[in-house]
Amino acid sequence: MAIALWQIRNHPKGLYILFFVEMWERFSYYGMRALLVLYLTKHFLFTQDAAYGLYGAYTTLVYILPVIGGFLADRYLGQRRAVAIGAALLVIGHGLMAVEGDPVAAGQTPDLAVLNIFYLALAFIILGVGFLKANISAMVGQLYPKTDLRRDGAFTLFYVGINSGSFIGALWCGFLGETYGWNYGFGLAGVGMLAGLIVFLWGKALLQGAGELADEAKVRAIRVAGMSPQVLIYLGTAGMLLLVWWLVRDQGTVAAVLWPVMAVTYAYILYRAVATLTPHERDRIFAALILISLQVLFWALFEQAGSSLNIYTDQQVDRTVFGAELPASVFQSLNAFYIIYLGPLFAALWIFLAKRGLEPTAPQKFGLGIVQLGLGFLVLVWGAASGTNLTPVVFIFLIYLLHTTGELFVSPVGLSAMTRLSPGHMVGLIMGAWFLASGAGNMVASQIAQATGSGELEEAYDPELVMEVYSRIGWIAVAVGIGLVLVSPLINRLMHLNTLKDDAMP
Ligand code: GLN
Repeated sequence: MAIALWQIRNHPKGLYILFFVEMWERFSYYGMRALLVLYLTKHFLFTQDAAYGLYGAYTTLVYILPVIGGFLADRYLGQRRAVAIGAALLVIGHGLMAVEGDPVAAGQTPDLAVLNIFYLALAFIILGVGFLKANISAMVGQLYPKTDLRRDGAFTLFYVGINSGSFIGALWCGFLGETYGWNYGFGLAGVGMLAGLIVFLWGKALLQGAGELADEAKVRAIRVAGMSPQVLIYLGTAGMLLLVWWLVRDQGTVAAVLWPVMAVTYAYILYRAVATLTPHERDRIFAALILISLQVLFWALFEQAGSSLNIYTDQQVDRTVFGAELPASVFQSLNAFYIIYLGPLFAALWIFLAKRGLEPTAPQKFGLGIVQLGLGFLVLVWGAASGTNLTPVVFIFLIYLLHTTGELFVSPVGLSAMTRLSPGHMVGLIMGAWFLASGAGNMVASQIAQATGSGELEEAYDPELVMEVYSRIGWIAVAVGIGLVLVSPLINRLMHLNTLKDDAMP
């Protein structure tokens, strides 16, 4: 992280602010998430099934709402105000999580009032992420002119902030929550988010106008039923809070909601692109939608980490490192650890290559990233077949390494591309669609994990089936990645990078 901060010196000061705010937001998000399933099963005595169901509904909703948050910010709020609202909702949500009541005794049901406060806390967090996540990413892009060579590097550093937050959050909140009491862990997540909110409000001047509405006066003049858009949004937020509060309990409904929301989002973006944009702007939106769609594939494979790969590490890997046997969960932090150390190198590498005109284009980076993702699986399959009964731990280090370098080729690069490809008045929406697609990827990831049989009882666990699935998805990823590199000139043409200069800059 120190190297990352040192590198930020070559960037606008606003990046410091956004780096820290997003770091604290992810600290609270991943800190709380690390405890959630444990809390449900050990404190409220949920069954495993019910706990996973709720966890799935929660993590899916968290990535659905940014589309709405992005849309509202583009049209009525501006990203800066939306981030501030999101951060405040998150402080409330994490604060409410600290209300835990008495532990449920065996055979008893949880106190309904406490349980309802807990669901309300989740709803506040989901709405908070909805207002914040896409919009803060959009703001990073607004700190740079469209043709600035530092853009991909800036997003890579921002991504280091994300992962620093998730790494320390899971560690500290997880430790406090499990050792001293759940409410300490959740409470710390709330304190972290409060720190983020304070930094954000304090740093307003350094943001140099990023995230402000271009036509504030026009929006101020709008009245619907005598009310301003802002008042309507606050009322709508209260209504949404109740809806999400209800939805969060019902995994089936959430799963059923995701794909229609995706379809409506794509249709609306296409409509806006075709009906309201110039031909070059429209083509760029087409390119953005292609990159967004690839996200589904990327996260569906990448997110085996927490599920099937985690269980494989637990059951089939010789986890001895320097003479000590490590628990499988420790390997969950490898990804963030690699990002914190490799991210600054990648940020410097992109800038180094860009200055020499050698930087791969975004679609090429995507293709190469997806190839690395596939190679990660294939390396593990090869390692597992290498003879001994248990798979040597070095292959777990290797798969996470390749998945992390793949992620650095895709995720920050994609955030950067979204801000470059969308016109200023659509950037929140496009960024929201980006996260929505990653939410869909997570949903498909759980289906792939089920196909590996990882949800089965321990006795029925079949490592060969896991390797069969990994081998298949590994080859698919390599093929799609190579295909993408081959067609990248076509996507590139849609981007019209040569005319980007003409676009209005904040
Ligand atoms: N791990 C990253 C984050 O939390 C990426 C998430 C995503 O795009 N789904 O921001």
